[in-house]
Amino acid sequence: MIIAAIFGIVGFRSHNFQQYLAAEGFRPSLSKTELTSLQKHFAYYRALPPKSQRIFAYRVARFKKLTKFVPRQMNTVSEEMEVLISASAVQISFGYDDVFLAHFDRIFVYPDQFWSSADQRHHKGEVNPAMGAIVISWKHFVEGYATNEGLNLGLHEMAHALQLENIIMNDEFGFMNGDDIRAWQQLASTEMEKLRSGETSFFRAYAGTNQAEFFAVAVENFFERPKDFSVYNSALYKTLTQLLKQDPLLLMRSH
Ligand SMILES: [Zn+2]
Repeated sequence: MIIAAIFGIVGFRSHNFQQYLAAEGFRPSLSKTELTSLQKHFAYYRALPPKSQRIFAYRVARFKKLTKFVPRQMNTVSEEMEVLISASAVQISFGYDDVFLAHFDRIFVYPDQFWSSADQRHHKGEVNPAMGAIVISWKHFVEGYATNEGLNLGLHEMAHALQLENIIMNDEFGFMNGDDIRAWQQLASTEMEKLRSGETSFFRAYAGTNQAEFFAVAVENFFERPKDFSVYNSALYKTLTQLLKQDPLLLMRSH
């Protein structure tokens, strides 16, 4: 669960989605089977009102269409895997109309944790901005969405990708508000100090590693345990609603 490489971050790997879509004249949509997968396995999608569900499904189809899924140590990435991994990316970026993690156009899928030669350790996921790649262990991706304990590999890696997308120079550059980012970093620092000094915290110890890991762990909890998160630290929670332009608590209350 690390950012594999920061170097190469200013490399240009931009799709211009609007131009691309206009040129191709296509409006991707999900098949019935794919919609059933979303309905069956994706609680966030189920919680959306019907109109938002249609937008969500369209965005999943679009993300899936413009992303290359590459199997590693297995034969294929199934349609269902592609749909659910795409849904994870759409979930975190749903508050932003035009953000599709354009820099990250390749997703490598392993069946289980994988060995990383970069730091000689097993990883469950990573984001590699130099390669424009997100890497996912399918086993841990599924486990993340199976429970709501604030541990979600898909959302964790997508959170890294979203934060990087915001600072990579392309069409999707700079969508997060600077004041919100500064407010977030300040509140996050206070929480990280608590974690590092061994004080009890709502967040797991790993969140104290650095600002990027804190953000990723906070995002996991934001979507999985929004009520507990907002009770624990309402200012931090509110700032994250501003950064992501969505509030899972409102989503839960509307149904
Ligand atoms: Zn991480």
